[in-house]
Amino acid sequence: MSAYTHRRRPLHEVTRDLVATAMGREPADLIIRDGRLVNVNTAQMQDGIDVAVRHGFIAFVGDAAHIPGGSGTTVVDAAGRYLLPGFIDTHLHVESSMVDVRSFARAVLPEGTTTIACDNHEITNVFGLRAMELFHAAAQGLPLKVLVAMPVCVPSIPGFEDAGATITAREVAAAYRRGWAQLQGEQMNFPGVITAIPRCTRSSRPRCRRGSCSRVITPVRRSTAGCPRS
Ligand SMILES: [Zn+2]
Repeated sequence: MSAYTHRRRPLHEVTRDLVATAMGREPADLIIRDGRLVNVNTAQMQDGIDVAVRHGFIAFVGDAAHIPGGSGTTVVDAAGRYLLPGFIDTHLHVESSMVDVRSFARAVLPEGTTTIACDNHEITNVFGLRAMELFHAAAQGLPLKVLVAMPVCVPSIPGFEDAGATITAREVAAAYRRGWAQLQGEQMNFPGVITAIPRCTRSSRPRCRRGSCSRVITPVRRSTAGCPRS
């Protein structure tokens, strides 16, 4: 895995090729024949389904008899095995698996997980913002889609932990700005949310300002635990 780098061309560069393959004018890179499709749009199972892939994108799903194979085309006979979209693991901590993110990808991809939303709370507890930078670098080029959730309470309970690092609202904002994080991590300091500790609400603002924040309204004070407006 360490030598493998996944570089898929941007979709806008290959749309013409995808259409050409879908229409049968140009060969596919990969054709998977005779699968049993789990159609998550119609909630149906469909037998005898082919999938044609070009440039790493799915160009066609259905009866691909009209799509030619070229010298570089790989043909796989699914023989009735299931075809379904990749799984998305919406919350995990890669560090809890005790392996790095590249080894983690190698373990989960064959099982069908193609996207993870991981909260880097554990390494950030120790290394602070530097941990986000290191994790981001380690996740580059993986065939696994890695969406990183920025920890917002490091330490989770101030005064009870001595892990070594502290994350401030300024550092949370920096992680988003530098592209090291895409989501907000767990807010474990629930006493801080309920009692509206400024440190707690400030750390959620950078994510909320970017337009993606789950709104939580508490009976304590409306603006304290949800999406701060300022
Ligand atoms: Zn968790």
